[in-house]
Amino acid sequence: YEKIDIPSKGGDELANINRTFNMMMEKLEQHYQKQQEFVSNASHELKTPITVIESYAKLLLRRGFENREVAQESLQAIVNESSRMHEMVLQLLELAKNNEHLDIHFEQLNLAPFLDKVAMQMQQAYQRAFIVDVSLSIYIASDEKILKQLLFILLDNARKYSEGEVHISAKETTNCVRVTIRDFGIGIPAEHIPHLFERFYRVTEDRNRKTGGSGLGLAIAYELAKQLGITIDVESTLGEGSSFTLCIPKEGQR
Ligand code: ADP
Repeated sequence: YEKIDIPSKGGDELANINRTFNMMMEKLEQHYQKQQEFVSNASHELKTPITVIESYAKLLLRRGFENREVAQESLQAIVNESSRMHEMVLQLLELAKNNEHLDIHFEQLNLAPFLDKVAMQMQQAYQRAFIVDVSLSIYIASDEKILKQLLFILLDNARKYSEGEVHISAKETTNCVRVTIRDFGIGIPAEHIPHLFERFYRVTEDRNRKTGGSGLGLAIAYELAKQLGITIDVESTLGEGSSFTLCIPKEGQR
């Protein structure tokens, strides 16, 4: 036992230390609970495709040799579910990485040509119209690779949850450059908007099943945005479409 020297105003100091200690413990506890929840969600999400793969593989063993149709269907399901699982594992790794510190290199980026390039890549990959309407000539302060990754997530969602064109526009404000990604798709019910950036959150499994996502995209987008000093606003009208707006620091604002 080591004697602790309590300063003259000992009572106050001790109470302060005690409070700080309790606050720290509470934070640690919350952090731990979040981690636990994450691991349990991740295991649950990975279990589903594994179960599907297992049952189709068994069906293939039992009936696939004599029935070509069964073999075809089983193999297709196995391929689909493995790709989904592959994508999810990559996303989980991405999230784990973002928990640590990302290697970020801020640079001056000429916004319009940068957005043109990103839209072109999406257009080529998905044969859909990604229309950039940015007339202002402005430089932002960001990391090209990470910002591209963030935009890809939002553009990919805009594509997945709509059928027509996706519009990208930009506006300068005193605080930042606001870049908006707008789709004219299914929209998001208002009560879901506050939860969109939570890990594994999907609006409803039913309407989303076709797109086969994991609910991790926006959680990753949120982490990436945080690292780049970007905030994201969401506006949406059910049945009319959604817009996600990034408030990106301007050149010289970092
Ligand atoms: P997912 O892999 O399911 O797309 P995200 O984290 O990227 O995961 O998105 C979470 C949920 O938010 C989606 O499942 C979808 O319900 C909803 N969502 C995201 N973007 C849009 C959008 N542009 N239009 C309609 N719903 C969207």
